[in-house]
Amino acid sequence: MRLFTPGPVNLSRSAAEGLAAPTTHHRSKAFEELYSSLLAGLKSSFLTSGTVTVLTASGTGGMEAAVASLIKPSEKVLIPVSGKFSERWVEISEVYGIESIVIDLEPGLSPEPEDIKARLDEHLISGVFLTHCETSTGALTDLKSISEAIDDWSRMHGHRVLKIADCISTLCVDELRMEEWHLDCCIAASQKGLLAPPGLAFVALSDEAMRALAGANCKSYYLDLQRYVEAVPHYPFTPAVHAVRAAVASLESILAIGIEKLWKYYGNSASAIRILLSDAGFKPVASSQASAAVAFWSGGVDPITLGQTLERTHRILIAQGQGHLKGRIFRISPIGKTTAELQQLGVALAEALRQYGVDLTDEALVHYEQMLAREKVQW
Ligand SMILES: *Cc1c(COP(=O)(O)O)cnc(C)c1O
Repeated sequence: MRLFTPGPVNLSRSAAEGLAAPTTHHRSKAFEELYSSLLAGLKSSFLTSGTVTVLTASGTGGMEAAVASLIKPSEKVLIPVSGKFSERWVEISEVYGIESIVIDLEPGLSPEPEDIKARLDEHLISGVFLTHCETSTGALTDLKSISEAIDDWSRMHGHRVLKIADCISTLCVDELRMEEWHLDCCIAASQKGLLAPPGLAFVALSDEAMRALAGANCKSYYLDLQRYVEAVPHYPFTPAVHAVRAAVASLESILAIGIEKLWKYYGNSASAIRILLSDAGFKPVASSQASAAVAFWSGGVDPITLGQTLERTHRILIAQGQGHLKGRIFRISPIGKTTAELQQLGVALAEALRQYGVDLTDEALVHYEQMLAREKVQW
């Protein structure tokens, strides 16, 4: 099955080979070396010289670790919410007794720097929780501009505000420059842009975040990031050693391709998909489009039976809407897909949509393939 879903995605060949290797004991020298290369590879992917921690958890575990380890229960945080994943920041904060000030946005919209600044004026905020790609709608948050706006505000008011970003679907997919953009904490997971199996969450920390970590008095045992930082070069518990090996192998091939090359490739792939389906009359959900997922309002087409047809006749899995968007949108992700696979997607969509009376013309398909040919990656 070809997973055109924004995680999990099909394993890269190197990840699959890494998974097949024998078990390495986590207290051995061999594991220590493996773990060090994972940490180094992650720093190169987040583009940070700061600290990276690895948790045996899915991405949400990394989000929870960031909340629990960086924010104190009496503090307030600011959270722009435009979908299921940004909403998760609110839910996690609530569990830890942290008050969240929410900026409510329509699905598909992204937060604006000015809105964030205005809220910082109104409340004493310790951290802003952002979602780089709100994967439920494909909306991209301009982390660079928002981070700049927060820094401006901090300088004027002499009050530090941590900038924490869920980059779970965007690491190695959409442009992300953690250090250059002055982000304090970025979270990712193994089963998305890393093309590795699910099971690992990554939390990258700036020096400022490291200071917050030391003072936060974390109320979780397993998710206390301080434990993981202090244990390096060892891992404090039994890690998912096979997932670590697979992630290291996959990261090696990703970094050999080059991360900026991948940003371009995925950007071009997402645009091609967006144009192909827009021409056929589907309206994209996001106003500012991430590469990690492209979502469309399904209009007169039932997205659930469309998904079933693609699965049954083409062995292609697309993603459905979540929560109140179920049955109203469908989502497609190019993560980890070759140009040939993206071409097959176009042909399959044309065939499957015909039964709904939606005409994807030959011209549109030719244009789609020409667009795809513009950016090539040697997988
Ligand atoms: C996939 C995803 C998550 C959730 O990750 P899990 O690995 O399922 O816990 C969180 N945020 C975003 C933006 C995602 O795309």
